[in-house]
Amino acid sequence: MTTPRVEIDLGKITQNARCLIRRLGARGLTVTGVTKAVCGHPDVAEAMLTGGVVGLAESRLSNVIRMRAAGIGCPISMIRAPMVEEAKEVIRYCDASYNTEKSTIRKLGSHARDEGTEHHVILTVEMGDLRDGIMPEDLINAAALVVATPGLALKGIAANFACMGNVAPTANDMALLSRLADQVDGECGPYAVLVSGGGSANLAWALGDGSTGRINNLRLGEAILLGIDPVSGQPIDGLHTDAFALFAEVIEARLKPSAMPTRPSPLEYGKLELVSNVGQINRSVLALGRQDTDASGLVFPSGIGFIDATSDHTVVDTGKAHVSVGSEIKMEMNYSALMRAMSAPDVEKVVRHALPENGVYKDSGPRPLLRLV
Ligand SMILES: *Cc1c(COP(=O)(O)O)cnc(C)c1O
Repeated sequence: MTTPRVEIDLGKITQNARCLIRRLGARGLTVTGVTKAVCGHPDVAEAMLTGGVVGLAESRLSNVIRMRAAGIGCPISMIRAPMVEEAKEVIRYCDASYNTEKSTIRKLGSHARDEGTEHHVILTVEMGDLRDGIMPEDLINAAALVVATPGLALKGIAANFACMGNVAPTANDMALLSRLADQVDGECGPYAVLVSGGGSANLAWALGDGSTGRINNLRLGEAILLGIDPVSGQPIDGLHTDAFALFAEVIEARLKPSAMPTRPSPLEYGKLELVSNVGQINRSVLALGRQDTDASGLVFPSGIGFIDATSDHTVVDTGKAHVSVGSEIKMEMNYSALMRAMSAPDVEKVVRHALPENGVYKDSGPRPLLRLV
């Protein structure tokens, strides 16, 4: 089969979505599925919808268009604030967008009027991640603008956490977001229908036992796709962490020194350098590089260690395993590696295991981590 390739187990994605939706539903929260890490892959989006997400969210319009072209008709929100230049297409392809700037909001309103539709606006509030967001003290003013703009409907407010920093929100942050929702409703009418508390980084809070207040939604990407809590990097209980696997072919395998010999230039002669060299090791070169994925975010089978990667090669220490040229190595990916692999044109995407009719996932049995040929 073609390499490099990502194999995608749709049944596991559906099950992860279903499990999170059930747990969060018990706490009064709905789940929006975030598809940006899979580049808006329509089959993955469908797997999330089968699992019960209330809608999809994307940060790139091109990915939204890809999903629409594949026939996905559910509500899709732009979670990255639209660029002014794409406002017209955002109106056409998205039901809602998350916004922070008045000039963009006015532009969206004008295009919505031209198209004769009503576009939903969710206002993103800055709550400490310092990426995008309206300062809390300016929120009412922005809400009033949306309400006063024909063609737009204010549908809610949202917060971001741990997108730039790696800090999970606290109960106090969530209480503040609830108060802001009350304020928007008090000033502008009952508009804060959706109060979206963040992404996967907020699961620890959402699944805790404190009050959820006005928060009624999370936007989940990583937790559904990888079953991982982005703050701790730990697997989330009950979720599949192996819905995706990356395969690459070995194009060279031989014993080589573990480190390059030092070749002092004539000027540096006599200068001593300490280089760790444990002698000869089994090094394999994979036909996979930084152009295909985030090599530092790969997890190799046990016994195989990452050495380095260039744009088109990844070098691993295969230890005692005898790996032959032409064999495949299977890797797991973190979020960053997944996102890059899913958007890389030379990485094939192979979809497997649509969920069976009865909704029960049957494990296909262990697949070998390392196929030795
Ligand atoms: C990426 C993103 C999410 C989803 O984050 P995960 O950590 O993958 O759950 C949610 N909201 C916004 C605005 C995002 O950019």
